[in-house]
Amino acid sequence: AIPLVVAISTSVSAGKGLLIRNRTAFENARKITAMVFDKTGTLTEGNFGVSRYESLSDDLDKKELLAHTASLEQESEHPIAMGIVKKAKEKELGLLTVKAFEALTGKGIQGKIDGELWKVVSPGYLEENNISIPEKSQGNEAETIVFVLRGEDLVGFVALSDKIREDSYAAIKTLREKGMKMFMATGDNEKTAKAVSEALELDGYYSGVLPDAKVDIVKKLQKDGYFVAMTGDGVNDAPALAQADVGIAVGSGTDVAAETADIILVNSNPKDIAKLVLFGRATYQKMI
Ligand code: ADP
Ligand code: MG
Repeated sequence: AIPLVVAISTSVSAGKGLLIRNRTAFENARKITAMVFDKTGTLTEGNFGVSRYESLSDDLDKKELLAHTASLEQESEHPIAMGIVKKAKEKELGLLTVKAFEALTGKGIQGKIDGELWKVVSPGYLEENNISIPEKSQGNEAETIVFVLRGEDLVGFVALSDKIREDSYAAIKTLREKGMKMFMATGDNEKTAKAVSEALELDGYYSGVLPDAKVDIVKKLQKDGYFVAMTGDGVNDAPALAQADVGIAVGSGTDVAAETADIILVNSNPKDIAKLVLFGRATYQKMI
C-alpha cells in the first residue's frame, strides 16, 4: 500500500505542474545529485523571434530567402520553425509548395521546392560538410543561427533569439542550494549554449548534442557517481530518459518520451522540478 503521506503529496505535486508516473520517481526525486536540462523550451522560453536574415546569393533577394526558408519550416514543429513562419506571415510572404520533406534529426530539415533540394541546417551541419561559416552571419552570443542551402550552395541564413525563462534563475538557485550539479544538453551551437550556461551559472553544458548522444551523457554522469535526472522532449530522447535515474518528459513532448518518463513536466518549467525536490524532501522527513 502507498503510505498516505506519499499519496497526498503525489496529487499535490500534480497540481504544481508535474505528473508523477510512478511512486519510485517521487522517492527518487530527493536523491537527485545531477540534473541535465534541455535548453530550448525548458531553461529558455522556446519562443524564437527572427532577429536578422540575409541572402548570400546574387540570384535570391532577402524576401525570397525568407519565403523559401519559411516554406520548408511550415512542415516542421521545432520552435525555430515557428519563429521563421511567424516572420514570413508578418512580412505577408506567399509560401511555396514543398515536396519530399524530411527532418534531419538534430541538424535541421530538407525538402524540394520547384525540383531543387533545399535545406535549413545548424552550424554543426556546415562544419561536418566542410562549408565555412560566413563572417557576416555571426552576431551576438545568444543568437541561434540556421543556414539555408540550395543544392550544395549556401544561399543565406536566419538568426533567431530566444529568452531564458525568468523562472529558470530561481529554480537553478534552489537546486544548487540542495547540493545538485546542474547541466544543460542542447542541439544548439556552442556559443549560444555557453551564453545560456553562463547566465544561469550552470556547472557545465553539452552543445551540438545529437538526440542519440543524450544517453551517453547520462551514462557518463552515472559513472562519475551521480544520481541523474534528465529532461527530454523527443522520440529520440526516450533511451536517455529510460537510462536516467529520474526521466522527466517535458510538456510539449511526444507520447514516446512521456511513456518512458517517470515524471511529466507539464509546463516544461524548471521551477516545478525545484518544487518537487523541496516537496519530496519535506514529505520524507515527515515519514521518518
Ligand atoms: P534543441 O531541442 O536543443 O534545439 P534539436 O536537436 O531540436 O535541439 O535541434 C538542434 C539544432 O538543429 C538546432 O539548434 C538547429 O540548428 C537545427 N534544427 C533542428 N530543427 C530545425 C528546423 N526545423 N529548422 C532549422 N534548424 C533546425
Ligand atoms: Mg529538441
